[in-house]
Formats: sequence, structure tokens, C-alpha cells
Amino acid sequence: MKALYMEKMGTTALTEIPIPAATKDRALIRMRKCGFCGTDVAGYLGLADNYRYPVVIGHEAVGIIEEIDENNDRGLKVGDRVTCEPYTSCGVCYACRKGRYNNCERLSVTGCHQDGMFAEYHTHPIHLLHKIPDSMTDREACIVEPLAIGLNATKRLDVQPGEVCAVAGSGAIGILCALACKARGGIPIICDVLDERLAYARAVGLPYVCNSAREDFARYIRSVNHGNLADCFYEACGAPEVCQRMVDFVENTGRIVLVGWTHAKFTFDKDAIIRKEVDIFGSRNASNCFPGAIDLIASGYVQAEKLITREIRLDQALETLKEMAEHPESYLKILVDLEA
Ligand SMILES: [Zn+2]
Ligand SMILES: [Zn+2]
Repeated sequence: MKALYMEKMGTTALTEIPIPAATKDRALIRMRKCGFCGTDVAGYLGLADNYRYPVVIGHEAVGIIEEIDENNDRGLKVGDRVTCEPYTSCGVCYACRKGRYNNCERLSVTGCHQDGMFAEYHTHPIHLLHKIPDSMTDREACIVEPLAIGLNATKRLDVQPGEVCAVAGSGAIGILCALACKARGGIPIICDVLDERLAYARAVGLPYVCNSAREDFARYIRSVNHGNLADCFYEACGAPEVCQRMVDFVENTGRIVLVGWTHAKFTFDKDAIIRKEVDIFGSRNASNCFPGAIDLIASGYVQAEKLITREIRLDQALETLKEMAEHPESYLKILVDLEA
């Protein structure tokens, strides 16, 4: 079968590899579509140092169960359409015992530490498969995983109804954080330096957007929030210049969540954290968020289709990855049709 394969750091190639086999615990899935994530672009550029090689990339996908142990305790069967939660955990370490398996000591992320979903077939642990309702399209189902990231960050902040939440970064993750925040009753205000990306935010029902290249984001937050800074702040762009200033966007005792990976070192004002007594949370992947993400998309609350810029064939993947790296403004979410 064909797969997007990384032999070693920064060597993504379309490669012919054997079809993997189903086991008692893993179902064989015939993949239909898979979305590109910022992580895939970082991997393509050789910027991400957390991969285990060789590896098939991809973790935002939908497919049809081709082979499964029919005695599985999930009630799943051949022909079911599923999305694959890509975080395999040990179940016994400190984080796993607290139910936060996304932070397992032995965490293995599909498409990063073990073979992923930019392939014609993929095997996946049965307990991490989630059935997709008939009303949801394959394209929408590819947005479930990134929305789960936004839901996890929102859970970390414990956003309360009426709280104003600033979001830095109007990429797919920033927008999905903002929508997850809104679903909890929060009022998101999103910033980016690219107007094209802010237009995507507006299109999915996020009215408060700020181009922070032209307007000071803190000032914009005050203009929306009756002179006040935000209650919460999501860092979803990974830009060092934003991370350095994150404390400036919240009121004293505000809460901050870091979602975006920063591939560069930065410094920030530690004393400002003490002075304002802010809480800072990390949010990595997601735990127990797939069912909620499926509901938000199936109900139409999250208009997933509007986040999809383009759909391509697998044989166009490499040129598209190159284009995504060179022109980040010209795409939001790109899907690969794995059956084309
Ligand atoms: Zn992703
Ligand atoms: Zn664990």
C-alpha cells in the first residue's frame, strides 16, 4: 500500500509498504481521508524532534473498519465508519491513574511515535476507535481530533460562562480552541497577524478578531471587555513574541493555557506571573474529549466544513506540504483523499 513515510528526520516520502495486520486488540481500517496538522509540516521540515523513525505520519483521519475481532467490548464491527483517537497510553503510570492518559509516561502518539494514517490502511487499538454518526461527512470527521485539542485546553482552563478568553493564533487549533471556549459559554477574542486566517474565524461565528500586526492585542481586548483584560488566555500560535507577553493579556489572577508548540526558545517575565498571581497550564493532546468533539460537529455547532481549504490526492501530498510550509496564509486545513 502507499503511505506518507518518514525514514528519518525531515525525509517524508510517498512509499510503498506492506499492509499491516489486524490483531486481537487492533482493528484494520481502510482509510478514507486524513487532514494535515502543523505537526506534519514541522516533521516535513525536520523541525520536530519528537518523532520515532521510521514512521507513517498522520493522525486526523476517518476510515472504515475492514477487519476486527467481532467479540470486542465496544460493539464495533466490520463496515463501521470510525475516527481513531491517536494517543496510546500505558494505563498504570501516575498520569494514567488520574485519567490524564494524554500525558502518559509511555505515551505513543499515532503518526509520530507509531505508524499513522496517511496510508491506504492503518491498524488502531479498538478501545481508541470512535464511531462517526451517519449525518457527519468524512470531511467533517477529520476535524474531530483537532477539536478535541481545543476541548482539552478549555477543560484545563475550566472556562466559566461569561468569561472573556483571548486566543493567540487563528490557525485551525486557535479557531477550534475559540469554538470550544464558546461552547462552554466563554466569549473568545482571537488574534493573528494574517487577515486571511482571521477571515476563517469570522466565517465560523467568531466576531471578535484582531490583527495584532496592526493593532495592540491588549488594547483590543480592553475595547471589547469594558476596559478590562481577559479572564483567560490561550496560546495557540507558538510564536516566541506572543509567549513572552502572555501575562500582559490577562487580568491579575487570570489563567493561561499553552497549546501551541514553540520550535524556538524564548524568555518571559517570571516575576510578572508572581505579581499578577496568574495560573499557567500546559495542554498536550487530549483525554476523554473525542465524544464531545463528535457531538459538537454532528450538532452543527462547530461548522467543520468551513475550516477545510482544500482536498488533495496522496500523490500531491509532498508538493502540498512544501506549499504549506512556504505559504502558511493560504491554507487552514487541507485533507488528503486516501481513496483517490
Ligand atoms: Zn494534529
Ligand atoms: Zn501511562
